[in-house]
Amino acid sequence: MVDEAGFSIHIPQQIYTDMLDHVVEGYPNEACGALGAKNSRVVKHYPTANAAEHPDDFSIIDPTDLLHIYEDIDEYDGEMIYYHSHPKSEAYPSKRDKEWAIRNKLYYIIFSHKFYPEPPYARVFWINDDESVIEGKIEISSYQ
Ligand SMILES: [Zn+2]
Repeated sequence: MVDEAGFSIHIPQQIYTDMLDHVVEGYPNEACGALGAKNSRVVKHYPTANAAEHPDDFSIIDPTDLLHIYEDIDEYDGEMIYYHSHPKSEAYPSKRDKEWAIRNKLYYIIFSHKFYPEPPYARVFWINDDESVIEGKIEISSYQ
């Protein structure tokens, strides 16, 4: 899905609204979850708890939850996208996010509450092995 020219992720409006609700609910902590995608189109939403030791500062999906999500996504031969929120900072991968992304090889959607109480906004990234970052486009679609 990624090349020099970037990439696009298509998210149905309803799923995007549900993701927004989930990250707003998690505020002022980081919230996290996963998406299942097929051919760059998100088909399923998996909101999860944040299992990080300091959830105001980082987010991790519990390994058991993660395994179940992987199994479910395998059923429809999809691809996982990870998403989480930054309560204060920009919607951009932190140093730690980059380190994790290099290991887990997932697309990262990051929400920011920087303009709280305005609704959070989201950006999507792919992180290369050398920690360079490619930003993609999030397209909100009305298809189901
Ligand atoms: Zn982060």
